Amino acid sequence: MSEKLMLIKEVSLKNNCPECFNNTGLHLTFKQKIVETKFYKSITPEINRELSCKTCHTIIYPVQWTDDIDKVVEYQQKAFTPKQASTYLKKVSWILIGMSITAVIFLAITIYYLNF
Ligand SMILES: [Zn+2]
Repeated sequence: MSEKLMLIKEVSLKNNCPECFNNTGLHLTFKQKIVETKFYKSITPEINRELSCKTCHTIIYPVQWTDDIDKVVEYQQKAFTPKQASTYLKKVSWILIGMSITAVIFLAITIYYLNF
């Protein structure tokens, strides 16, 4: 089973970076967790929010956020629509389901004929 984060939305903020004080580097990203196995792929409702600076290449953790950053992030969070959680079966799963159905039908026919 593998888990990965899919980038859903990225916004650049005009706030000053708490690390390098540049006001062009801050980027807020929203990522959604995806779980993938051999049999299915699932979009989970789990959202990962991250603020990073592209100027000084630093991840800005919430403890470093200023009140202004807090407000902007809160606003962006409200404006953000996550992808609907869903699960897709892969081809191999459908083949297994198909084989099971065939096996059941075959068994039913065999039992039917054995009774006569
Ligand atoms: Zn920075």
